[in-house]
Amino acid sequence: MENQNSIISLKNVNKIYPNGAQAVFDFNLDIKDGEFIVMAGPSGCGKSTTLRMIAGLEEISSGELWINGKLCNDVAPRDRNIAMVFQNYALYAHMTVYHNLAFSLLIRKIDSDEIHKRVMAAAEMLGLIPYLNRKPKQLSGGQRQRVAVGRAIVRNPVVYLLDEPLSNLDAKLRASMRKELSQLHHQLNATFIYVTHDQIEALTLADRIVVMKDGYIQQCSSPKEMFDNPVNLFVAGFIGTPPMNFYKGIINEDGTFTHTSSGTVLTIEPDMFESIKNKGYVGKQVIMASRPDYVYMDEATFAKYPGGKFTLKLDYEEHLGAYNLVYGLFGDERCIAKVYNRDQASGETVECVFDMSKVHFFDPETENRIND
Ligand code: ADP
Repeated sequence: MENQNSIISLKNVNKIYPNGAQAVFDFNLDIKDGEFIVMAGPSGCGKSTTLRMIAGLEEISSGELWINGKLCNDVAPRDRNIAMVFQNYALYAHMTVYHNLAFSLLIRKIDSDEIHKRVMAAAEMLGLIPYLNRKPKQLSGGQRQRVAVGRAIVRNPVVYLLDEPLSNLDAKLRASMRKELSQLHHQLNATFIYVTHDQIEALTLADRIVVMKDGYIQQCSSPKEMFDNPVNLFVAGFIGTPPMNFYKGIINEDGTFTHTSSGTVLTIEPDMFESIKNKGYVGKQVIMASRPDYVYMDEATFAKYPGGKFTLKLDYEEHLGAYNLVYGLFGDERCIAKVYNRDQASGETVECVFDMSKVHFFDPETENRIND
């Protein structure tokens, strides 16, 4: 049965391509009406395959796909009430913007007054009114992308599927289109499923992010939850720029962590230690992970985080206006710190602290997080 509160439900969905390659494994997700879902992960992890199964462009090998209360595994794409926006906008070069927007409605034999109304409403929403008589080649990249989005809007779909829609645009345009898409989502009050390999797009746009790897969902949660509490090393390394720093070491009985390559002893927060101890990790090898955002090197923080002191061997520094990215080595492992305040003179080493309430511990074999 479908979940009554969901606009889309995927239940135990698998995709095996005819050549025998399995691209998606046991995919389960309930998407609420109006949600902005971002599917993220590296190239080849199965994002597009999943999106294409929802669209009906790829057959579902096993499992169930429910859209708006209807089992849709065998429903034709055009009858699913969804619209898709691709990265290569696939606009009709010989048609004007107006006709590009109207075309899918014309072939559905919709009444011409209604078509005009919908085209003008979409053009108005997207700032395309001045360009309605132009052909695609007379438009900028951003304008073409808006026409592609407009072609989806005129169909009034229940769900919008967007496959890397901004990846052909330059960095500046991407940032402004990101904002526009977010506003559009609010305005349309529709459900968006958006595929990207760009974790910044995922963090800025999503209500919930689904991170995939090798065909499996790794974590599905709000951007904040994913940033604060990644479930495994893969998600910890994928979400956040610069990525988390990782350090090998051992959990000691007295509630400390000994960093192997430097010999530094750090104090684990009592609650965190309790959960690690309960899972049997005392005396075991683990990986400690710390975000560059939670490494500090100004005097005021040393008293605040007394259990997190360590020495960083400096490598180089990037000055990025409001903050510096400091690259160095902790023992023989890479440490990047994003620092806003830095009151020590530059030398070969610098004294630093980890905010130990923000670190995480992972099992080096299963790669899963072990602290609660
Ligand atoms: P992503 O969108 O995350 O980059 P895809 O969903 O496109 O990943 O691909 C997932 C996996 O399925 C990849 O290993 C890819 O090579 C494979 N794949 C995609 N399309 C086909 C196909 N038509 N036949 C066989 N394998 C495919």
